[in-house]
Amino acid sequence: MPNESPPSVDADVIVIGAGPAGAAAASRLARDGLHVEVLERNHFPRFAIGESLLPQCMLHLDESGLLETVQAGGYQHKNGAVFSRNDKQTAIDFRDKFSAGWGTTYQVERADFDHRLIQAASSHGAHVSFGMSVTDFQPDDERPRLRVTDDDGRESHLTARFVLDASGYGRVLARLLALSRHPRMEPRMALFTHVEDHINDPDFDREKILIGVHPADDSVWYWLIPFANGHSSVGVVGDIDTLSRAGNDAMERWHYWISAEPRYRSLLKRARVIRPVDELQGYAADVDRLHGPGYALLGNAGEFLDPVFSSGVTIALRSASMAAPLVERQLEGQWVDWQAEFEEPLRRGIDTFRAFVDAWYDGRLQSIIFHGSHPQELKRMISAVLAGYAWDSDNPFVTSPQKRLTTLAELCGHHPSTAEGRA
Ligand SMILES: Cc1cc2nc3c(=O)[nH]c(=O)nc-3n(C[C@H](O)[C@H](O)[C@H](O)COP(=O)(O)OP(=O)(O)OC[C@H]3O[C@@H](n4cnc5c(N)ncnc54)[C@H](O)[C@@H]3O)c2cc1C
Repeated sequence: MPNESPPSVDADVIVIGAGPAGAAAASRLARDGLHVEVLERNHFPRFAIGESLLPQCMLHLDESGLLETVQAGGYQHKNGAVFSRNDKQTAIDFRDKFSAGWGTTYQVERADFDHRLIQAASSHGAHVSFGMSVTDFQPDDERPRLRVTDDDGRESHLTARFVLDASGYGRVLARLLALSRHPRMEPRMALFTHVEDHINDPDFDREKILIGVHPADDSVWYWLIPFANGHSSVGVVGDIDTLSRAGNDAMERWHYWISAEPRYRSLLKRARVIRPVDELQGYAADVDRLHGPGYALLGNAGEFLDPVFSSGVTIALRSASMAAPLVERQLEGQWVDWQAEFEEPLRRGIDTFRAFVDAWYDGRLQSIIFHGSHPQELKRMISAVLAGYAWDSDNPFVTSPQKRLTTLAELCGHHPSTAEGRA
């Protein structure tokens, strides 16, 4: 029988999960003087996927008091993306973009990055407990209540005045409160690992993520994210049946698909795999609502789209930046309209990313990217969204992404019929 005890902590805010969303929210709230408890199931440092940041992140790291620790991390600078398909390559430089703000960011090993963020949050006053899994939740406007189970199976109950669920793929409140809904994204699979890359091609730009496309099947794409220490993250994404067809296990499949892309095969010919290949599938997720009595959902605990444009950490940090001041106002006794002030504006940017992700998989965005020559201003608008400025309502590709992408793709020679039958 688990050992039950009465509520042992009564915090202003409990944050579930110490990933980027949880660390950013905890840091900001603790700096503003609130009693913040972070409950993290794992022990850090721990591996996580999601290593290529977008420049928009930098603003939110700054708002949470976390920019300095990230800048001190010695991470690989990133200023854009290179897209590669057969013999075509297109580089996008985030410094040349429509929206104001940061034009550079980092490529980070998440074990170290997440550890740094939560250590900084702790130094700002947040109390962090590792090896603590949230296993039950009772929503309440005044005093939401949690059950927590530690590594030894001991249970305790905690209350707070507000709870932020930043549990990422743990999806704690989505599961416990049955909030999940169909994610509107096709289920796909990713195979990924880290390598000592030994890349010595002078044309390879370590300051950009390399996004490759399979030469014969443009629904299969690749990422190569170089780190500062000569290692790289290398992954492939495609529909589950397609990727599963090759090889008997994840390692064999990864080798098969990486060597099928000529640029990757050439760049990685001396590479040495340094961790087991991970296989993740069906990672897209969504919920009916991002808030309820005494709680709100941040980052991946709410919605996750797709890895293709590296939007995950940006959305996680943005959600924390938006939620933290609202929590403070609510705890001061002011009325907060979580739907109008949090969910709707957050989802507007996510919907912009969704339009870009959809256009990638149905071929429109690939037609645009590999077409090459566009008026400079259009390029800068697309560059801004890819740099994470998906909430900039001055950018026409943010306010009407669907219409703009379709029109531009047609001008680039994309025929809608060629998209049919793709993922
Ligand atoms: C294949 C793939 C590639 C990706 N590549 C990128 C990329 O290049 N760039 C990018 O920005 N994003 C990328 N992402 C997305 C990125 O991984 C996530 O969006 C990001 O990590 C979300 O941050 P978070 O803070 O919301 O959650 P997480 O980083 O998942 O953190 C959640 C934390 O909550 C903890 N937790 C879970 N359950 C519980 C519980 N019951 N109790 C207590 N704690 C709990 C977990 O241990 C974890 O530490 C990728 C995703 C995939 C699937």
